[in-house]
Amino acid sequence: MTDGEPSLHDRHARLRDAQARGGAPDLATRKRRLRALETLIREHRAQIAEAIAADFGRRPVEETDLLEVFPSLSGIRHALSHLRRWMRPRRRWAGFWFLPARTELRPQPLGVVGIIVPWNYPLYLAAGPLTDALAAGNRVMLKTSELTPAFGTLLSELVARHFEPDEVVVVNGGVDVARAFAALPFDHLLFTGSTSVGREVMRAAAANLVPVTLELGGKSPAIIGDGARLEHAIERIVLGKLLNAGQTCIAPDYVLLPRARVQAFIDGARAAVGRLYPQLAANPHYTGIASERHHMRLCELRDAAVAQGAVAHELADAPADARVIAPTLLTGVDDRMDVMRQEIFGPLLPLVPYDSIDEAIAYVNARPHPLALYVFDDRRAVVERVLDATLAGGVSVNDTILHIAQHHLPFGGVGASGMGAYHGEDGFRTFSRMKPVFRQARWNLVGLLNPPYGTLFRRMLRLLLGG
Ligand code: NAD
Repeated sequence: MTDGEPSLHDRHARLRDAQARGGAPDLATRKRRLRALETLIREHRAQIAEAIAADFGRRPVEETDLLEVFPSLSGIRHALSHLRRWMRPRRRWAGFWFLPARTELRPQPLGVVGIIVPWNYPLYLAAGPLTDALAAGNRVMLKTSELTPAFGTLLSELVARHFEPDEVVVVNGGVDVARAFAALPFDHLLFTGSTSVGREVMRAAAANLVPVTLELGGKSPAIIGDGARLEHAIERIVLGKLLNAGQTCIAPDYVLLPRARVQAFIDGARAAVGRLYPQLAANPHYTGIASERHHMRLCELRDAAVAQGAVAHELADAPADARVIAPTLLTGVDDRMDVMRQEIFGPLLPLVPYDSIDEAIAYVNARPHPLALYVFDDRRAVVERVLDATLAGGVSVNDTILHIAQHHLPFGGVGASGMGAYHGEDGFRTFSRMKPVFRQARWNLVGLLNPPYGTLFRRMLRLLLGG
């Protein structure tokens, strides 16, 4: 924040007062806001991709278009076409003894929603929650990551141009600003980021009893079964891992595979990288590591694992002078190594061999619940067994990543990978108070249970208690 700018509290108060004055916005207002967001992204697509590339050092426009612009726009279009139905009260059944009363759930905006955005998909992880919060009729204050300063500056300019200042506000700044932001008395706070910062955010929100949705990270496994089409599994895992150079919350973090298939995986992955990113060192379609700190962190994770006995299999050459890390498989890993204890968030992929699918399941279940889980097998029974026996935020079967792109599925974690969910109608509900309403009928029987308690009351009570 610079001198002369209103304080965070003032900006929050402005949104809160506007919401109190304006009440719940009607369908037309919500649609206008969603269309403003759509126009903002559509008209400034190239500038947005440029800003993100500047922040990352190297990020292809194609990746930003495919992984950020497309899901953002498609989420907005989905909301626009379903909003009228989402806003309707939902009829519920009144209990038998209360008939002919009627009950309903009535969606109402919560008020002012806070959104804290990480650096890895700065547009999509801002526009996604923003879409749901605006659809639900809220005003929004959004904090971008200090690691994407060019994008943050651009977004605040664009939002100021496309929205009223009491509709949506973008806040930029460092961790001190993020801390102060998390302490504001929002009506709901959605945080996307690491599990450790998520804990701090929840603590700050607790002081004001602000409800939170925490979209966190963790180690998401990919399990390859004996009945998997190996070449297909390898290509989808390698692709899911290398999009955005592995800096994706739901990227496969490690692979559990039958011991006999380890060498075939290494050979297949090398071939897949050659196909997907030919001449990787000079290939502009392979993303860089977003900051020097994360680049060093990844090099240290890899080197420490090797020093402790792991073997690194580089699948291609990376340019020596850029903040780029070559796709690398790690074998011979174990739980002493940080690479098996921390979320990797980069293009390193440990292979963990197993001797039976039960062993693979036990391995997953001995660790915190992952944000995503991938299972590759063409035998239905094996897939069902893995689905039933493990708990994860979301799953793709015989693919990676794509469950996040389903507007009809909620997206979120469980346990250490997060709480709550959003996307589509589930996001609309997250940012709405689904207010229960009981409507008494003019003629009803509840008076029969009034005191003083006499014979009629006792008869009625016998009926109520079932004899
Ligand atoms: P991070 O936790 O370091 O930072 C996230 C955001 O929190 C940033 O905007 C930062 O400014 C802010 N922040 C930092 N300290 C804070 C504090 N004390 N109080 C309030 N806010 C604070 O995460 P990151 O490095 O930006 O992103 C990577 C992590 O995010 C990974 O763990 C990844 O798995 C996770 N992630 C999760 C999802 C999801 O949808 N579940 C999506 C993307 C990334």
